[in-house]
Amino acid sequence: MRKSILLVEDEKNIARFIELELKHEQFDVTTCYNGREGLQLALDENNHFDVILLDVMLPELNGIEVCRRVRSHSEVPIILITARDAVMDRVAGLDAGADDYIVKPFAIEELLARIRSILRRTSKSVKKPQLLQYKNITINQDAYSASVDNCPLELTKTEFDLLSLLMTNKNRVCTREQILEKVWGYQTDVETNVVDVYIRHLRSKLPKEASSYIETVRGVGYVMRE
Ligand code: CA
Repeated sequence: MRKSILLVEDEKNIARFIELELKHEQFDVTTCYNGREGLQLALDENNHFDVILLDVMLPELNGIEVCRRVRSHSEVPIILITARDAVMDRVAGLDAGADDYIVKPFAIEELLARIRSILRRTSKSVKKPQLLQYKNITINQDAYSASVDNCPLELTKTEFDLLSLLMTNKNRVCTREQILEKVWGYQTDVETNVVDVYIRHLRSKLPKEASSYIETVRGVGYVMRE
């Protein structure tokens, strides 16, 4: 699966630039522009982020406070983006549980290197398998395996990614465009009706009852509701 990054940065030009660079490096990026929204996204159990990039000077709730509150609930790696010469921000940020920081203005290569370094560290320390559960379907994202009532499913990689995307977004309708972007990648020239074809394949591989878990939202996309 692609790694997912939450970017909280109120300067829209900078945010847009970082977002494009990260997407170019095949990361999934969720961007928001104030601290309160950043905190909500970070703590929402429906989201999974591999890294959070957090500006310190933010409207509504500053980055240090966001960092402290996220850290009291989650071990997700946090990189702070601080202003030049703001030594106290860096100290406060590290004290609040940030894993690393980068000083503005920075070269994008340096930011990418820091993200890679953090991902290397966390992927080594994470031993628990990433299990996702929906009713009687279980998937293990590390092992790329899926089962229904403990009977293994024979899925292709694309079908697996599709199922895990829908299960990760329980109760949230995934549009065909979102599915294309997440499963087939950002720069894709695949037509959206390919999604329908793959959903059909996926349903046909599920037992009858489980195949009905994937609901079609006509004209929009697909959802698995609880
Ligand atoms: Ca700022």
